[in-house]
Amino acid sequence: MRGFFTAAATGFAFALTVFAPSAWAQEEEPRWSIAIHGGAGTIARENMSDEEDAAYRASLQAALDAGRKVLEDGGEALDAVEAVIVMLEDDARFNAGRGAVFTWDETHELDASIMDGRNRDAGAVAGVTGIRNPILLARKVMTDSPHVMLAGEGAEEFASEHGLEVVPNEWFDTDFRRRSLERVKADKLSALDVDVKFGTVGAVALDTHGNLAAGTSTGGMTGKRWGRIGDAPIIGAGTYADNRSCAVSATGWGEYFIRVGVAQQICLAMRFMGVGAFGPSEQERLQKGTMAQAVADTVMDDVKELGGDGGVIVVTPDGHALYSFNTAGMYRGRATSEGVNEVAIYGDE
Ligand code: ASP
Repeated sequence: MRGFFTAAATGFAFALTVFAPSAWAQEEEPRWSIAIHGGAGTIARENMSDEEDAAYRASLQAALDAGRKVLEDGGEALDAVEAVIVMLEDDARFNAGRGAVFTWDETHELDASIMDGRNRDAGAVAGVTGIRNPILLARKVMTDSPHVMLAGEGAEEFASEHGLEVVPNEWFDTDFRRRSLERVKADKLSALDVDVKFGTVGAVALDTHGNLAAGTSTGGMTGKRWGRIGDAPIIGAGTYADNRSCAVSATGWGEYFIRVGVAQQICLAMRFMGVGAFGPSEQERLQKGTMAQAVADTVMDDVKELGGDGGVIVVTPDGHALYSFNTAGMYRGRATSEGVNEVAIYGDE
């Protein structure tokens, strides 16, 4: 993997020599593409009942279908990302919105972010306690405020000024997450011991207008305190979108994703490797997909080397939808205008 960048640069030079501009000028239907995640972790078949397995797949497929419908109808990548995340936030199986993990003080503090690849507009909220769908608030911050990130009470005040749905903090409670907190406290375990999976949710999309978007939403990590904020609301760590390179949403041990700057690092590598200069021939398109996968894997290797784990979803400007994770499994799904439509959980599928 380490020699990858040299190899890719050589491949890029080769591509520019071999593919004359005249060969690029083929008319094509505009592509759309979407990838989603519901968290990564030590998710193993033997720990999952058939009912649970089926229920997770049904939730992922329903969210994927919601995003896909927006894109098939010619809608915007941002709306597709929002549609997916709102559904997963409302689904108690995932650690975002309803079903969010408990803090040390037995409350919930939610983080979310969204980014528009057209102009790199972005919005994020951190540590909000009573907003039903934090992704909607993140989008409002992007569109209706001069800021990128709002936190805590101020963010809630902004939310009520903009008519966002408010719920009591208990609305996010689930017995399953409460038991995780009890184990953290009783056995002095870390969140990583009880949260065998990170349940953060995210989506990345390319629309038929050629625009990319990314979004991520989470309850963070069980037993968090002192106002801890993870990578999900940090633009460049958990979320990034730039039409010139790619869109990324992450899940995992947030501190490592912040230190590595995972989402932006993947996009930046893609951009500096010249993806924008490739032509639209199928061969070059495939080359870009291989490059994107290698870049994402290299950055995830880096996270692992520091001791962190998790995964990312990536969509490229020419419609590749891919995953990279260094955990046993990741709740995930992808669909494209080329006919891809899949949801998956374990690492071997
Ligand atoms: N990345 C999230 C955080 O550190 C956790 C997760 O992915 O579930 O807050």
